[in-house]
Amino acid sequence: MTIREHKEQREQAYLSPYAAKSINSAGRKLPSEKCDLRTEYQKDRDRITHCKAFRRLKHKTQVFISPEGDHYRTRLTHTLEVAQIARTIASALSLNEDLTEAIALGHDMGHTPFGHTGEDALDTLLPGGFRHNEQSARVVEHLENEGRGLNLTAEVIDGILNHRTSCNPSTLEGHVVRISDKIAYTNHDLDDALRAKILSSADFPEYINETLGKTPSQRIDFMVKNLVENSLNKPEISFSLDVAKITNELRLFLTENVYANMLLHHRERNKIQTMLRLLFEYYSENPQKLPPELTARMDNNPTQTVADYIAGMTDRFAMNSFSDIFIPEAWN
Ligand code: MG
Repeated sequence: MTIREHKEQREQAYLSPYAAKSINSAGRKLPSEKCDLRTEYQKDRDRITHCKAFRRLKHKTQVFISPEGDHYRTRLTHTLEVAQIARTIASALSLNEDLTEAIALGHDMGHTPFGHTGEDALDTLLPGGFRHNEQSARVVEHLENEGRGLNLTAEVIDGILNHRTSCNPSTLEGHVVRISDKIAYTNHDLDDALRAKILSSADFPEYINETLGKTPSQRIDFMVKNLVENSLNKPEISFSLDVAKITNELRLFLTENVYANMLLHHRERNKIQTMLRLLFEYYSENPQKLPPELTARMDNNPTQTVADYIAGMTDRFAMNSFSDIFIPEAWN
């Protein structure tokens, strides 16, 4: 018996009846040899961490444009915080930690440069709109690995595609990631907003402090414990009603006091949207300037191909491309 087969047996024996067992996976689109050491979901986790889109997350904005300071979250550190929270919850509920980790690490790989400002820009440029969760699924299914995709299991793709609030993932592990994403970003966006002095602690509603805790670590701990206590041995993942309510109020507070504030006052927002629109127009008119693996896909849907290229850019790659194309070079 291989080590992987031992692990599959352990999953059957020790995981919750509601957990996704790697041996029951609906599998991959293309046949792939099984590993002697790793389960199918561990293989997927490794395929994600070794791919280029994952590495580019370190230079993509979460909320605050990353060059502003070294301590703000980037899309990569956000992803790692989500994975850590999600694994803690999955492990406490005896769900499949490997599947949870794979979904968490891949969930934001379709995010554009410059966070939701970039997403909004692409959303207006594409006839069918742009949603980063769908783009994350495109990255793992079609774009990574020189356009061949990562050939992941159906459950990992499903969790990545359905990590947004309005979606309904097919596994509890997918639900754990969906909620862990919110636990992570509400707490770290708040922390970063205080760091950026967009908020002061005095603005923060006292009753939220009193219920959830005063520091990010106290709040995360409280939310995770409530979620675990309330979901133990149940076929669904949810907070207790009172905590669900106050968590929503915290998100609303952030929307009104941090995100909206940034949309209105962030002087860079218009510049970013103009820059991405001009790049989009430039590559639509000059498809020969796209990397060869993308030009090959151009015939299927040229607009989507240009969006794929721009969505894949890091903040600084977009700025450098813009500068190369549109800013005259000085004589040296
Ligand atoms: Mg996220």
